[in-house]
Parts: sequence; structure tokens; C-alpha cells
Amino acid sequence: MSAPAILQVEHLSKSFRGLKAIADVSFAIAPGSITSIIGPNGAGKSTLFNLITGYLAPTAGTVRFNGRPITGMATNRIAELGIARAFQIARPFRDISVRENVRIGALFGKKGLRDVEATTERGMKLASLAHLADRRASALTVGQLRHLEVARAIATRADLLLADEPCAGLNPTETAAMIDVLRQIRSSGVTVLLVEHDMPSVMEVSDRLLVLDAGMLIADGSPHEVAKDAKVIAAYLGTPEAS
Ligand code: ADP
Ligand code: MG
Repeated sequence: MSAPAILQVEHLSKSFRGLKAIADVSFAIAPGSITSIIGPNGAGKSTLFNLITGYLAPTAGTVRFNGRPITGMATNRIAELGIARAFQIARPFRDISVRENVRIGALFGKKGLRDVEATTERGMKLASLAHLADRRASALTVGQLRHLEVARAIATRADLLLADEPCAGLNPTETAAMIDVLRQIRSSGVTVLLVEHDMPSVMEVSDRLLVLDAGMLIADGSPHEVAKDAKVIAAYLGTPEAS
């Protein structure tokens, strides 16, 4: 990897009463990329996100962000360092505008000097919401509400965005719009870790795929490489006979 990794996961494990939800997983993420984590239900994708964001403490292993160990840190301290998670945070406030909702993200998040107004506008622009800035959140469609969650996460000035199934329940048009937003976020320099079930979208938008199966990392490579991997086809994509 040419640039130093923004995120480094080393021999990470998490057991729940003997069930190995994450089993000795190691990988490093290049800055400015979109990496998708795929795998069947129960593979450990959300647990991995919970370990990175500090909602869960690992049984073993370390997580480093920009070289700094963050394992075991409180979630708010990890957020202050510049990691944001979308789609698990509190719902938007319905009776205030899009801009006011995004401004809340700009008031919190990463430590350091900030220009709250500029950060709010940037969050809305990257999430393709600038034209709806003055609309009440309660008047947004389901797809637009998802964009609002992304805008709030980006407004925290995070350098790493974790998105857990941003396209779940969206129609094909809304899914395409969300994928465009993720691309815009990558173009702005923010690194994205994505968990998403919509495989055409994942194949199209990802620079790299990590495949989890029963807590283990069974493949790691470009979408093209991973799609050809026999272990992945067997574990996740289904055998040709079965489909
Ligand atoms: P995914 O997001 O890939 O569908 P999860 O990370 O949610 O998978 O779950 C991985 C495994 O860990 C599953 O078997 C799940 O039941 C178990 N698990 C997840 N969270 C907990 C928890 N808080 N307590 C006990 N078991 C859990
Ligand atoms: Mg999950």
C-alpha cells in the first residue's frame, strides 16, 4: 500500500459466549477508497463496525486509526478522532429543517477548529441535499432521509465514514442516488467502509471487497478478483447449480 493506512485492523476477534463473531481478522484500508465488507447474514459485518466504532470491545486484537490504537476507547472519543457511522445514529429531528439537522452534526464530531456554517453546507452538498436545505425533515422521502443521515455524518468532519446498509429498502433509483453520494464522498477525500447487500451497487462502487464468512476473512481483493474466488462463490454468491 503506497499511502499509510487510515485504518488498520490486526488479529481482531470478538466472541459472544463462545460464538466467534469475528475470528482473527486483519486488514488495512488505504485513504480515499471505498471498501465494501460483504458476507452472508450473521457473518460478523455489523460486529466489525461495532468494534471499529467502540460500541463493542474486542476479545483480542487491535484497531488503529491513522496509526493510533483506538481499541477500547469510548465511542465519543473515537468520533472526536474522525470516524463517523451512518445509519445507526439517532433519527433526524423531524420538526426542524435539513440544514438545522446537518448543523447538529457540524457542532459535534471531530475535534479541532471548525467553521460550522461551511461544514454544514459541505455536508448537504456532498449528500446531494443542498436544494432541500430549508425543507423540514418530516417532509423528506425515505431516500432523502438516508441522504440526511449521510450529510450529518459527513458534517462531523469525519475522515472515515462507516455506512451500514445505506441502500436497504431503497428502490433502484434511490439506490443509484445513494451510490452517487458515496462516490462524491470518496472524491472529497473521505474514506468509506461500506456494508451493503445490493451486489450490483457493491461491484460498481467498491475499490476493494473484504468477504467475511462465519467471522473469518475469506477473501480480500478487487471486485473483479473476489467475484472469481471459488471460496466466495461457495460461501456467499451461491453455486451456479443452486441459483
Ligand atoms: P452481520 O452483520 O454480518 O449479519 P452480525 O455482526 O450482526 O452479522 O452477527 C454476527 C454473529 O454474532 C451472529 O451470529 C450474531 O447472532 C452474533 N451477535 C451479534 N451481536 C451479538 C450480541 N450483542 N450478543 C450476542 N451475539 C451477537
Ligand atoms: Mg448486520
